[in-house]
Amino acid sequence: MLPPGSTIGILGGGQLGRMLGLAAANLGYKVHIYAPDAESVAAEVTAHHTQAAWDDEPRLAGFASACDVVTFEFENVPVDTVRFLSGHVAVRPGAKALEIAQDRLTEKDFVADLGGRPAPYAAAPDRTALDTALDRIGTPAILKTVRMGYDGKGQARLSTPDDADDAWDGIGRHAAVLEGFVAFEHEFSVILVRGIDGETRFWDSAVNVHEGGILASSSLPPPPLVAAQQDEARAMMAAIADALDYVGVLTGEFFATEDGPVFNEMAPRVHNSGHWTIEGAVASQFENHIRAVAGLPLGSTRTLALPVTMRNLIGGAIADVPALLADENAHVHHYGKTEVRDGRKLGHATWVGAPPA
Ligand code: AMP
Repeated sequence: MLPPGSTIGILGGGQLGRMLGLAAANLGYKVHIYAPDAESVAAEVTAHHTQAAWDDEPRLAGFASACDVVTFEFENVPVDTVRFLSGHVAVRPGAKALEIAQDRLTEKDFVADLGGRPAPYAAAPDRTALDTALDRIGTPAILKTVRMGYDGKGQARLSTPDDADDAWDGIGRHAAVLEGFVAFEHEFSVILVRGIDGETRFWDSAVNVHEGGILASSSLPPPPLVAAQQDEARAMMAAIADALDYVGVLTGEFFATEDGPVFNEMAPRVHNSGHWTIEGAVASQFENHIRAVAGLPLGSTRTLALPVTMRNLIGGAIADVPALLADENAHVHHYGKTEVRDGRKLGHATWVGAPPA
């Protein structure tokens, strides 16, 4: 158990790091942010900050020696960075989880090998292979870059095989995976936390609504179909966490279909669809992630009251903050980012035990 006053290092400096930093402060820890970007909304609320490149080994070594444990809030941290740090300080969760989550193909193979059920998929490393993949998967389908995709970026939909050229150009001609289009009723997530001793706890599953590939809102209670599939999806995520000897918060995104839950993707970190846990659960995803990586006992994941609604403030929607501040039941979070851009997550609001006004 890390004693209070210890320093937790976080790779990445965005809003997830900011909320982890606030949770760490509540438990008496200091946080050291490491990120290459000049602006870091995480570093604004934490004690220490190193702004340096992911491959700057002298700076990484200095960071490691200043930290008692290191974690990450950004899933595209280079695996080599985590491997290098692991030679100096404990990194939780480890490089393996990151490596799998960074590669859609590896991730799907990994989940399928564990008995999980991803959407039908086939590798499309080049344009010729895309045709072979189309023969196998058919249309409609979604072409996704294997690496660096998030918030619906690096994706193209194919209604017929004639869309192949446009889709291939649309994703920048990068190595990709072709996925069968899943006719789902709902999208939901399973968020778990696993402690150093292997104890695993789950928050209740929220139903997620995406707009333009970006999460717009998460709410509870979920519809009956999602509630009925939660246990099967949990078992899939627990198997993944155990196989990785995972420590910290792990998120799985699922499609609820008439035939059961279909695994979409995982994130080896706290997740936007779990922001409601800050006010809606006894211990939030951020608190429990810090507890797990620090070796503390896990906190209760119990939902405090229903209904719960979390709504993202994306791009121009940040202008809604004054109105939200006037809503007696809204918990408002502004991430402190200075630049407003379309599709950029700038804040969120949560309602617990009452609907939005
Ligand atoms: P992703 O980046 O993989 O989470 O995809 C972003 C969003 O695109 C998802 O949340 C879904 O709404 C949609 N989507 C992704 N893959 C599929 C699929 N195989 N079938 C249907 N919709 C999908």
